[in-house]
Amino acid sequence: KNANLFAALRAAFPADLDAVAIECADGEGLSYSWRDLERGTAMLANLLGSLELPPGSRVAVQTEKSVEALMLYLAVLRAGYVYLPLNTAYQAAELEYFIANAEPAVVVCTGKQFGWVSKLAFQAGVSYVFSLNEDRTGTLLDRASQMSDKHEPAAKRANELAAILYTSGTTGRSKGAMLSHGNMLSNALTLKDYWGWQADDVLIHALPIFHVHGLFVASHGALLNGSKMLWFNGKFEPKAVIARFAEATVFMGVPTLYVRMLAEAALDREACRHMRLFISGSAPLLLETFRDWQTRTGHTILERYGMSETIMLTSNPYFPDEGERVGGTVGQALPGVGVRVHSDAGELCAVDEIGNIEVKGPNVFAGYWRMPEKTKEEFTADGWFKTGDVGKQDSRGYLHIVGRSKDLIISGGYNVYPAEIEGYLNDMPGVAESAVVGVPHPDFGEGVIAVVVPKPGAQLEPAALIGELKRMIANFKVPKQLYLVNELPRNTMGKVQKNLLREQHKGLFA
Ligand code: ATP
Ligand code: MG
Repeated sequence: KNANLFAALRAAFPADLDAVAIECADGEGLSYSWRDLERGTAMLANLLGSLELPPGSRVAVQTEKSVEALMLYLAVLRAGYVYLPLNTAYQAAELEYFIANAEPAVVVCTGKQFGWVSKLAFQAGVSYVFSLNEDRTGTLLDRASQMSDKHEPAAKRANELAAILYTSGTTGRSKGAMLSHGNMLSNALTLKDYWGWQADDVLIHALPIFHVHGLFVASHGALLNGSKMLWFNGKFEPKAVIARFAEATVFMGVPTLYVRMLAEAALDREACRHMRLFISGSAPLLLETFRDWQTRTGHTILERYGMSETIMLTSNPYFPDEGERVGGTVGQALPGVGVRVHSDAGELCAVDEIGNIEVKGPNVFAGYWRMPEKTKEEFTADGWFKTGDVGKQDSRGYLHIVGRSKDLIISGGYNVYPAEIEGYLNDMPGVAESAVVGVPHPDFGEGVIAVVVPKPGAQLEPAALIGELKRMIANFKVPKQLYLVNELPRNTMGKVQKNLLREQHKGLFA
């Protein structure tokens, strides 16, 4: 049997191919039928096939979000090549790195960027550069429109490479995670059951499609269930999204999207009456956001945990008989996925004991692209992937993430877990959010500092916040310095960039 992920997605299309598969929520209100997806991906796959690329060729794509860009992803799978999405925010120096590292045979970019991207690409030995614009113009579609709309999906084995996903680069230089057809299909099938997907679901797709969350979890979820997507391109507009909840059942977002929707008066029970499920991931969801959402909408956000290297690995339950959704946790290991917490010495941690989160399963990637040493370092001798996240498992098997091992602070020989201190700070009146980092300190190795965002209109005193913490926690955990700022530095996926904070304050104790 053909293990090509596209073949599985195609097999799940509904019998009525003229039904709407994707409706664009903005602008012209364009919609695409399942037949449009079938024909569009066939034509694009035939175009790729006509280029006579060597097997395993990478197709690197940096375009604005559009349904055609999603079709291009599906077409790369269909044709049997390797999809390589790139964050739209990346500029020349970053693109140069990715192109040199991945050596794609084909690059697709926007018409606006074509000049400098094609120059850079051709210099790096790329054979073909096409353009694709948001308004459905560009050389890619021009060429594809001349191709046949019939195409047999390329035969693939489950362990063959389907995509290279570069990690977000939160802790250092991005690494290319090599994901196979089998990695992605196994995870999508697991989530289909675990989240109770139904054919009549309607997914609001408002995430970027260069990352696991929007490209895989969201799109595969809808496609594998023959469910319609309400598709939002461009910047996230909370009002516009809330207005469409009445026609939808599932929403997926990063925590900042939930915070922004909560700031809208239109968000209430009535607006969410038709919704079945709200899912959050990619960064920690504040307990306050979890609770506020419950109060305002009557819905309990389901938080899950994943990463480029493993797709999804844990999730809070959807079905009540599998347990409740516990705020501040990322839930239990998904069926078929092994999750364990190990001490630095490589021993299994006890319940509630903090250690390194490790994972094993059919979802775990094959390694980092062209980084065999790095790959070796990140796997244990018994074959578990070290996620780089630190956490604990409670007595019910729910995983609590307390930070990343790279963000862990060692001050005077003691471990300080940023998430613990951030939790206390976030609970204080007038605090919207916070980030705790360690910076070099001559006596302690690292000194703890905190950066706090006040709620609108709140008057906060750094000394008072520090005094408050001193009454609550051991002195070695209390920030020696606390800064008030308007916002935390975040990347496009809503992840706090603690490396930037460390860099900014590195001279404090020097
Ligand atoms: P890099 O590996 O390059 O430093 P990154 O780890 O941020 O970047 P991704 O693979 O996009 O790149 O993100 C995965 C990480 O996101 C996880 O390792 C984890 O730290 C974080 N994450 C994802 N979901 C959650 C969640 N629900 N709660 C807390 N953290 C989460
Ligand atoms: Mg990572």
